[in-house]
Amino acid sequence: MALNLLMLGPPGAGKGTQAERFAQSRGIPKISTGDILREAVQTGTEIGLRAKAIMDRGELVNDEVMIGIVRERLEKKDAANGFVLDGFPRTVAQAAALDGIMAGRDPLIVVDIMVPEEELVRRLSSRMICRSCGHNAPMGHGPVCALCGGELIQRTDDSESVVIDRLKVYHGQSEPLVEYYRVRPTFRAINGAQSPDQVAADLAAAIAAVCAHATRLPGVGTAAPSGVQP
Ligand SMILES: [Zn+2]
Repeated sequence: MALNLLMLGPPGAGKGTQAERFAQSRGIPKISTGDILREAVQTGTEIGLRAKAIMDRGELVNDEVMIGIVRERLEKKDAANGFVLDGFPRTVAQAAALDGIMAGRDPLIVVDIMVPEEELVRRLSSRMICRSCGHNAPMGHGPVCALCGGELIQRTDDSESVVIDRLKVYHGQSEPLVEYYRVRPTFRAINGAQSPDQVAADLAAAIAAVCAHATRLPGVGTAAPSGVQP
């Protein structure tokens, strides 16, 4: 069964790091919307050119174009055996469109990384940034950037009230999305308030459990359309 993984989680949950780590360990691509948008614009595909025109006008790329770009990326050969999707979908409408893109493929495995609000606030408001290269680092990594050796300073935009507002926006957007996926047998929530190694171990275990369960469902692991629909 292809590992078609979708990661959900608030800012500060370590989602990007875990997505990267898992993708590397399984030899599948990590697909984040920022990266593929840039890629499509650079490659100059039809949909990429449409995205560029929108961004050149200073507007946000709409759902239709974003969905087109995700579709194009997921159809590439390197994603045939699986992928880790990070940052898409953000809305239920996008999630429904993604289900359309995934028709006939192995089911999406959806993992929500959960971290208590107080812990997120603590993590986000103590984030450090490199003065030279802009690399982000959590507090407690020492005074020096791991990438370039530059000086780490506290991020000025990460005051506690800014962080709390950011989390409110995230929860408003993500709660309907989590509800959309929660009813599926391929949904798992894991505890993100642990060390990165422990989160990675829980993530791998959750995915193994989904795969063991899903291969017993009809229509999965064959060429037939996925049998896992809500
Ligand atoms: Zn640096």
